[in-house]
Amino acid sequence: MPIVPDLQAAAGDAHDAVRDPAVRDAARRAADALAAAFAAAERAVVFTGAGISTESGIPDFRSPGGIWSTMKPILYQEFLDSEEVRLEDWRRRFRMAASFAAVAPNAGHRAIARLVRDGPVATVVTQNIDRLHQRAGVPHERVVELHGHGTGAACLDCGAETALADAEAAIAATGRAPRCGACGGLVKGAIVSFGQPMPPAAMLRAGEASRDCDLFVVVGSSLVVQPAAGFPLIARRSGARLVILDRAATALDAEADLVLRGPIGEILGPLEHP
Ligand code: ZN
Repeated sequence: MPIVPDLQAAAGDAHDAVRDPAVRDAARRAADALAAAFAAAERAVVFTGAGISTESGIPDFRSPGGIWSTMKPILYQEFLDSEEVRLEDWRRRFRMAASFAAVAPNAGHRAIARLVRDGPVATVVTQNIDRLHQRAGVPHERVVELHGHGTGAACLDCGAETALADAEAAIAATGRAPRCGACGGLVKGAIVSFGQPMPPAAMLRAGEASRDCDLFVVVGSSLVVQPAAGFPLIARRSGARLVILDRAATALDAEADLVLRGPIGEILGPLEHP
């Protein structure tokens, strides 16, 4: 498993790292290796996790110091059981949506969008809920959101979608968690909560894309959270090359054909304008 280059020492702080000429040079070599992998591919999947969005200023919810280490996550069952919990969940949804709106896609997101537009990337599978891939220009139908998204809401019974602004207005008017206008079911933010089943259609699409590709590139995921971490292995078993780009070691580095370790935007960025 070749590691090109090992920027582990520099991975602590991307901003300090990119000022170091040796790191810049190493990142350029990594970008070249990545560009060569994409150039040799006919049908690629890019799989992204929190690491790409932390470089836009979005916290990694699960990491030490992340939001979940200071605020207990709301479990799906608790949402179903308690009106009080539902109202707290909605407050978090509104705060989260505001924090997403306040940041912008970074060089990594833009490079991936370019690789979808006129490169071999057929599908972007993401664990992120911030919609930054779409905001960077990836057509929505090319993005598979394994954990839903934080920018809207849907009825748990019939699936009818609701804008967050409408849910917020309904809560302000009634003091109650909103119900579906079509069927009366519970409306919930469109993220997949802890304890909530993974969306079957997204899981199916991610599996198909993984089996169909000849290159699978992991970007910014530690590949620890299941079942998402299984997709690189599905791709590998189907004969695809596996490339892993992350600031730190991941659970599947030993399975990869190529491991690129360093600041994500710095390594992906040059692929935006080849
Ligand atoms: Zn409904």
